[in-house]
Amino acid sequence: MADIEKTVIIGSGPAGWTAALYAGRANLHPLVLAGDGLTRERMPGGQLMFTTEVENYPGFVDGVDGQKMMAVLQKQAERFGARVHNVFVVRVDFGARPFRLWHVNELGGEEEKLLQTQSVIICTGARANYLGLESERRFENNGVSACAVCDGALPRFRDQPVAVVGGGDSAVEEGTYLAKFASVVYLVHRRSELRASKIMAQRALSNPKIKPVWNTVVEEVLGNDNTGVTGVRIKNVQTGQRTTLECRGLFAAIGHTPNTTFLEGQLELNAKKYIVLKDPFRSWTSVEGVFAGGDCCDPVYRQAITAAGMGCKAAIDAERWLAEQGIL
Ligand code: NAP
Repeated sequence: MADIEKTVIIGSGPAGWTAALYAGRANLHPLVLAGDGLTRERMPGGQLMFTTEVENYPGFVDGVDGQKMMAVLQKQAERFGARVHNVFVVRVDFGARPFRLWHVNELGGEEEKLLQTQSVIICTGARANYLGLESERRFENNGVSACAVCDGALPRFRDQPVAVVGGGDSAVEEGTYLAKFASVVYLVHRRSELRASKIMAQRALSNPKIKPVWNTVVEEVLGNDNTGVTGVRIKNVQTGQRTTLECRGLFAAIGHTPNTTFLEGQLELNAKKYIVLKDPFRSWTSVEGVFAGGDCCDPVYRQAITAAGMGCKAAIDAERWLAEQGIL
């Protein structure tokens, strides 16, 4: 019979590495299944691997490159005994203990390998939804972003016009945040009414720097490799008229998708597929012995630091639960 792990951590963003650090220091010898890098969502390190500058994580006075930060967090976790496999989990069976997990190998092979574990900490994160335009991909980190709080204060956007796409709470929140730095914020929405909560919408629309652009979709991001984004080509969906909106940034705020597909039928997920936590103060999921932290169970804050805090909680909860089971 193959070895049974004490705790397996799925995912390797700030939540995963922090869970690994705490679980390592608790002598759980955690195994981190970090992702195999085959696609963007399977990237070891998670979303921050695509962020050039992280300026809002406490401890880095001058900011830190997202990839460097993830490398530091990994090293710190490894220092306390975390083991790391660059594999991607494709399915799980949480119906009985030990829990069973199947993953494909780091070369992206099809052959599924089985792992067994007494406890699981899920930190698989979420991905920002993008419009799906080719030009949008081209200018990512060069004017296109999905996180105003992460990137809005960068010099490239200061006193410049920027555009935000979306009409939900994220869009108005990002727009309001960006209005602190940008000269003008165009709020481009495909309808003539915001989905956002009334109070947040009102606050955004009464901001003199925020200009709504109703009934409009973005068709193309314009720019060049040196300057980055210089504008967007937009289309009014009612009149069909196409125009160019000059701006130095495009912020997609059209929702997030948690990386939880492989958990369907195994754990309780909400209507938007976020993992449901059974207690607001804990990391317990609907299955005893399975814990979660970070953006896969947080549709609201979605910050590296909040994810790290949730990873910490999940590791402490896992350690306590294992001790109660007499497994430690
Ligand atoms: P959301 O509520 O799902 O809104 C997404 C917005 O993007 C909608 O206005 C939608 O348009 C638009 N959209 C979706 N796909 C699009 C596309 N392909 N092209 C153009 N527009 C598109 O997402 P969210 O704003 O990220 O909010 C998610 C959840 O987090 C919500 O429950 C929200 O209340 C919460 N949240 C709360 C706060 C806060 O309280 N501070 C802040 C952020 C988020 P339609 O309106 O036409 O569908």
